[in-house]
Amino acid sequence: MPRRGSSPRSVPSSRAPSAPSLYYRAPAAPVLPRRTPSSPSSLTLSTPPLQLRWHLHASPCQTTASSTSPPGHWGGTVAERTAIVIGAGVAGLATAALLGREGFRVTVIERLGEVGGRAGEETIDGYRFDTGPSWYLMPEAFDHFFGIFGLRASDVLDLVDLAPAYRIFPEDEEPLDVYSGRDRAIALFDAIEPGAGPTLSAYLDSAAEAYHLAVEHFLYTTFDSPRPFFSRSLRGRYLKLARLLTEGLEGVVEKKFRDRRLRQILTYPAVFLSSHPARTPSLYHLMSHTDLVEGVRYPRRGFSAVVSALASLACENGAEIRLNADVEAITYSGSSATGVRLTDGTWLLADAVVSTADLHFTETRLLPPSKRTFSDLWFAARDPGIGAVLVMLGTDKKLPQLAHHNLLFSRDWEPDFDAVFDSRDGASRSIYVSKPSATDPSTAPAGCENLFVLIPVAAAEGFGHGDLYEDVASPAVASLGDAAIDRIGSWCGIENFRDHITVARTLGPTDFASRYNAWSGGALGPAHTLRGSAFLRGRNASKKLSNLYYAGATTLPGVGVPMCLISAENVIARMGRSR
Ligand SMILES: Cc1cc2nc3c(=O)[nH]c(=O)nc-3n(C[C@H](O)[C@H](O)[C@H](O)COP(=O)(O)OP(=O)(O)OC[C@H]3O[C@@H](n4cnc5c(N)ncnc54)[C@H](O)[C@@H]3O)c2cc1C
Repeated sequence: MPRRGSSPRSVPSSRAPSAPSLYYRAPAAPVLPRRTPSSPSSLTLSTPPLQLRWHLHASPCQTTASSTSPPGHWGGTVAERTAIVIGAGVAGLATAALLGREGFRVTVIERLGEVGGRAGEETIDGYRFDTGPSWYLMPEAFDHFFGIFGLRASDVLDLVDLAPAYRIFPEDEEPLDVYSGRDRAIALFDAIEPGAGPTLSAYLDSAAEAYHLAVEHFLYTTFDSPRPFFSRSLRGRYLKLARLLTEGLEGVVEKKFRDRRLRQILTYPAVFLSSHPARTPSLYHLMSHTDLVEGVRYPRRGFSAVVSALASLACENGAEIRLNADVEAITYSGSSATGVRLTDGTWLLADAVVSTADLHFTETRLLPPSKRTFSDLWFAARDPGIGAVLVMLGTDKKLPQLAHHNLLFSRDWEPDFDAVFDSRDGASRSIYVSKPSATDPSTAPAGCENLFVLIPVAAAEGFGHGDLYEDVASPAVASLGDAAIDRIGSWCGIENFRDHITVARTLGPTDFASRYNAWSGGALGPAHTLRGSAFLRGRNASKKLSNLYYAGATTLPGVGVPMCLISAENVIARMGRSR
């Protein structure tokens, strides 16, 4: 695939300075007063959301020096509790904000020159691309997190309801718009497969029940006690729960619906779970409650607005964010972590360490074997999930054929997933295309479109890298990008699509490994199979070092921005119990 447009690095990021600065500094302005969850009403909401968001962005980031010490030393008594957070992705920033609010002096250590991690952002020739998340689902999780600071998500984000929620392009068939809202979804199902409407109604009832069950019992918990399993509201539901955990999502959907498109609408969310629909417990049919009932939103300025809001909150709560600082080891003394050592030889000390780097990397690269909680065998029994080839495209004309979210579903649905999960070099023919310029004109020059294409592939570094951060893309990544462009043109009915592409950049599994230290180059994190769910997904505290904790998509509760916010809350809860 020819690389088009100038280098992304030539355009300064609006979010954070690049090297040589070590710190993320937002412009100076007054700090918002700290608020408690019990007094959300203390915030006057007369300010329009966007101004408040600007205000959040405008808070200063502390840049106090961290304590350093010669190798092998524990730095002695510290006047206040200190914490180091490894990684400034969604989970790291959220954890830093919460720890700061708890009174910790927090230092966030990020190896890249910007915050956001997988929720990245790049601007090329006037096109602003989110390089990661694009679906804003589970709004309660965002509200729950921001509520701790006396805010609602809508105070800091400009959220737009998407209608349609998404458009599907089934191979060789007409496109279909899927609108959120129970009644509309039921009507759509009935129109496509007579009788499927009432079946979907029952399915969505069950999905809602499973969703609330999960939120109530299995997401905001660290599983450090068996209590979630013995709550009164779970009694009498054990049999159903056992069935939901042992039956696969795909099998359940196939029993209920015949039409391939309907099956695809109900099973594609397995991708959000980094999982194969056949190996995803049917408990996760709860995902259909989120997209078909609750609705799909878009935060204006994309997920970089979410990242900015989190970074500002972390800074307002006193966190210092150090960029271009690469952790090479978690240091310890006996059974306590003492801090981290950076690749430049700097030692940083802290009373607690929270790693939000991939769990596999943290365990296998930052700790010696004697201090690991999870063995090689433990990882071998888990699935690193999906990999992705990402293609960022700018076009020189409008593409009304596409909605904001577009799913191109191939006829080979099961083989697509098999290729991704059962091979080292397979790729899906079903792909996702986001067109944020449908909702957010700031993402592309006037009269143009911004497209983000996700091709699920095996999580295997052997695929190679793209040309967003390297000069030339690896052949496999380039050819998948080319094939995706052809598919979009022909399946979505866009004549001469390729001729209208002015910017084209790719990312591949090797980029995920080299930038984020992702296990096996995986894009999202370990698959939510039965073994990759709930307490079987791991634990958020080390068994070997009493003050080492884990947060982020690769630990529990799991993959996705809402889960990362919950994982940050869970770490604070765990630390509270450990004190
Ligand atoms: C293509 C794509 C599409 C997605 N779509 C969606 C979506 O639509 N909706 C949704 O909710 N979620 C989506 N997700 C998932 C979501 O983006 C992630 O779950 C989330 O951003 C992960 O955040 P994290 O903080 O756990 O990890 P990361 O973002 O990986 O952050 C970890 C950070 O740690 C840093 N780090 C690693 N090692 C070190 C070290 N040794 N020293 C210092 N720093 C280190 C990394 O550089 C990184 O910045 C998507 C993800 C991808 C990749």
